[in-house]
Amino acid sequence: MIIDLKNITEELLVKKALDRDWWVVQDEDDQILGLETPLELDIKVSRAGEKYLVKGEIAGGVRVRCDRCLEPFRWDFKSAFSVYLVVPEPTTDQADIELLEEEMEVDFTEGEAVELDQIIKEQVYLSLPMKCICKDDCLGLCPGCGVNLNREACQCKQETGHPAFSKLQSLMENRG
Ligand SMILES: [Zn+2]
Ligand SMILES: [Zn+2]
Repeated sequence: MIIDLKNITEELLVKKALDRDWWVVQDEDDQILGLETPLELDIKVSRAGEKYLVKGEIAGGVRVRCDRCLEPFRWDFKSAFSVYLVVPEPTTDQADIELLEEEMEVDFTEGEAVELDQIIKEQVYLSLPMKCICKDDCLGLCPGCGVNLNREACQCKQETGHPAFSKLQSLMENRG
């Protein structure tokens, strides 16, 4: 979805839903494994002096991997955001652009057009929690044998005592 900033006289509204297949998973190890629902966009692109303001809301459900048990699960979110865009002068070089982006907290576009998809993707990543946990009481994987403890109990469980003690024990074993 490319937006031509030149053509924006006052503001441009993007109110639509992106289909589930809009999100293409590039890498199996990625934090987001696809969309569970269409992404609802309610975004406004407007001029703000020399800059452009992209402001709005994104809502939907994404498929993420639990950081504790590694199982994929659905995570629903609604994110309000705003991003300032600046069209670079033709003379500004890449190093300066990166510096200015940090200083001014803006994103530079490539030329007069902006790829809205990229901004949306970034915002979806930013709206993820620091840790994605499938449920509060997720038991995670057994550090010993790797089974998902939400689904099965494993043998090692009975042998380990206090976690600190078993750590010490395994250190001693490794040494011997
Ligand atoms: Zn989990
Ligand atoms: Zn185990």
